[in-house]
Amino acid sequence: MAAKIIDGKQIASKIKNELKNEVDQLKLKGIFPGLAVVIVGNNPASRVYVNAKKKACEEIGIYSEEYALPEETTQQELLDLVRTLNKKKEVHGILVQLPLPKHLNEEEVINTINPNKDVDAFHPVNVGRIILGNPVFLPCTPAGVMELIKQSGFDVEGKECVVVGRSNIVGKPQSILLLEQHGTVTICHSRTRNLKDVCRRADILVVAVGKPHIITGDMIKPGAVVIDVGVNRLENKKLAGDVDFDSAVEVAGAITPVPGGVGPMTIAMLMKNTVKAAQQ
Ligand code: NDP
Repeated sequence: MAAKIIDGKQIASKIKNELKNEVDQLKLKGIFPGLAVVIVGNNPASRVYVNAKKKACEEIGIYSEEYALPEETTQQELLDLVRTLNKKKEVHGILVQLPLPKHLNEEEVINTINPNKDVDAFHPVNVGRIILGNPVFLPCTPAGVMELIKQSGFDVEGKECVVVGRSNIVGKPQSILLLEQHGTVTICHSRTRNLKDVCRRADILVVAVGKPHIITGDMIKPGAVVIDVGVNRLENKKLAGDVDFDSAVEVAGAITPVPGGVGPMTIAMLMKNTVKAAQQ
């Protein structure tokens, strides 16, 4: 039997509706949530993401400002802008779209963002809070994945969870959130031996690698929940996930599509963090 398709667009839309109500409540109290989005250079994918984030702000009633800086922006100029935004009262959340052009030091930029405005939850203070189980902001993509699992009616507690990928923005924090929900978590990466065998143990499989179709149906335990974080642009310009959807859908119990799975949830979670920043 083919898997249930987890509709990220629909779940994200429900969350955004709830947030809109919260924003309306805040406005009644004279608080107008605001997000500053900083983009440097001309990366087309970054432009798409920034536009989607601005659109979501409009939908929910969050005030947004965009700072589009040229490719040749210096580290000092970018840090000065972040420091200005740290102080700006109308701005509750600051998002610097990654990746930055190669000559810029991302780590220093992230470390300069006020942790209380760090709605991406990339600042070491926020990463530390997440690991200690006391987060202020949850990392957007991993939190979106957790929400997809929950809203689809699956429980993580006691389950075998396998995360493929160990990046700082997805794989690592994902494993922490699954652990926090009492999953038994295994993390795979490029040096993992027997990826297939490890994946086949998973009741919940989260894949964040960035290689199209690296996970095929034969690597999935029958009935497993498969969450595909990967976004890959194929030669024919189509988007594909890391999971080979056609073979996986025949084996999994539930699966997210790409596009329309994790992507919309990442943005919904960013909105949630911005509202939270304003509430605080
Ligand atoms: P990174 O490139 O930072 O990390 C990729 C991870 O995959 C690494 O840990 C790497 O291992 C691992 N890996 C690479 N090859 C293999 C392999 N053959 N077997 C097992 N593991 C492997 O990517 P990100 O985490 O930033 O992103 C992953 C994907 O998710 C991308 O497609 C990205 O576009 C997408 N993404 C989607 C988002 C969304 O909102 N939908 C948000 C963020 C990312 P090692 O550490 O050993 O090198």
